[in-house]
Amino acid sequence: MAGLWFPMVKAVLPGSFDPPTFGHLNIIERACSIFERVLVVVAVNREKHYLFSAEERVAFMQELVAPWPNVEVHTCDTLVVEFARKHQCRVLLRGVRSVQDFSYEFELSILNKGVGPDVETFFMPTDQKYFVLRSSAIKELASFGGDVSGMVPPMVAKAMERFRTVT
Ligand code: ADP
Repeated sequence: MAGLWFPMVKAVLPGSFDPPTFGHLNIIERACSIFERVLVVVAVNREKHYLFSAEERVAFMQELVAPWPNVEVHTCDTLVVEFARKHQCRVLLRGVRSVQDFSYEFELSILNKGVGPDVETFFMPTDQKYFVLRSSAIKELASFGGDVSGMVPPMVAKAMERFRTVT
């Protein structure tokens, strides 16, 4: 579909992207035809254990979003609402796959609204092709040597080979 529905509106899409999946890319592709700019924000949380370093996750995302000129990749180690404010983003975008996701995301949106009332959370339901894609399950599958090529881009599937614990 041509044209921008929300000209001048910038959206933040925060996430761990550990690793990035086709589900994430589907949300980004749909969002960048709606919002003027989409700022993908790779979360850096010192309390959280990630499979891939922040540098690797950023490098993946930079390469994967290269086809879309209005998508940028950033990192953030503060509240995402603060990041959104600093970059004049009115929308905080989150993908939802299930009712379980929704109940978690709904609570998060209320918390975020409390911290930053000027930033609105928008939910985008997953495309049905991707509703089973979950980074945590993909990591487990890859560690057992399972085929993840239908779930993550080839560059990510290749990088995951080094975490294979079962040969
Ligand atoms: P977080 O740790 O913040 O949940 P994720 O990288 O798991 O980070 O997810 C980032 C965003 O992408 C979240 O809004 C999440 O719900 C969404 N997402 C993840 N996987 C999918 C998918 N398969 N389809 C749609 N949205 C997804």
